[in-house]
Amino acid sequence: MSDAQSFYLLLAAFYLYECLIFAPRGAWAFVGQGGTKWRWRIPVFHLSGLHQEAFCAPILPYPGFQVVFPAPPDALPAPTALHSFRRDSLRIDKATRHLRFCSLLIFLHYFLLLPITYHHWVGTPIMIAVIIQGELLAFYTAFSFHRLHKRLHPDDKWERRLETLYNAFLPWHAMRASDLIIKKGCATWHPLAALVSHPNSPANQKQLALLWRRALYEGQSDSLQTFLEKAGIDPTPWSLPPPLDEPSNKYCPVCQAVYEKEASTCADCTGVALKRGTDQSVS
Ligand SMILES: [Zn+2]
Repeated sequence: MSDAQSFYLLLAAFYLYECLIFAPRGAWAFVGQGGTKWRWRIPVFHLSGLHQEAFCAPILPYPGFQVVFPAPPDALPAPTALHSFRRDSLRIDKATRHLRFCSLLIFLHYFLLLPITYHHWVGTPIMIAVIIQGELLAFYTAFSFHRLHKRLHPDDKWERRLETLYNAFLPWHAMRASDLIIKKGCATWHPLAALVSHPNSPANQKQLALLWRRALYEGQSDSLQTFLEKAGIDPTPWSLPPPLDEPSNKYCPVCQAVYEKEASTCADCTGVALKRGTDQSVS
């Protein structure tokens, strides 16, 4: 393996690690474009022994970005207002747009421009100029990060200094320079508000339906129903029984998995008693 190949293998590995966000088991993640239309994301893998999940951010640092919520919506009180989520998510998108664009330029510089230059002009002044350009880009990104962090989180001085140094000298870190600011900015957001921001997304709709049926099963659907009504979403179709081969078959009232007649509880939803197909709803 040549020096260039080793360099890119390490760079890709470090960058992919920067893209991973670890969160407690049961955490939820969303990817949004332009601060709206958040789509629910499945974890890329579980760390069972550590009770952690890993989510992967979009590979390109711009335009989309990921937010991770450490707890699922049903572990939190229902949000009271949807408009505050929309306002906050648009605000963080606007605030970090310039920084994410700088990160995209660094990404393209290292993964596109530098290999092309190396292939055609290795050992020439053009190669040296491109390397200097990459460093200048990283310094500018570090400066942009420092300025934005100081505006949004003026009290976290040591964190700002350390991250600015990382961004200036570690290109794979500068490619994800906005992740820390996004993480801090969305700490008070509610995953349910992210779900209803894009109810037409199949992934979001599936999670909303699951939440709704679980709330109905547990008899705690009032606050969720109020929130869904405010968002203009009718949850009634989600509580209809799934199609069954025989009416006497059973199904889980939460995940709607279909079971043979002998089963009594759902294997996936701990402790949830199965219902027969002749039942009209889960309520
Ligand atoms: Zn189930």
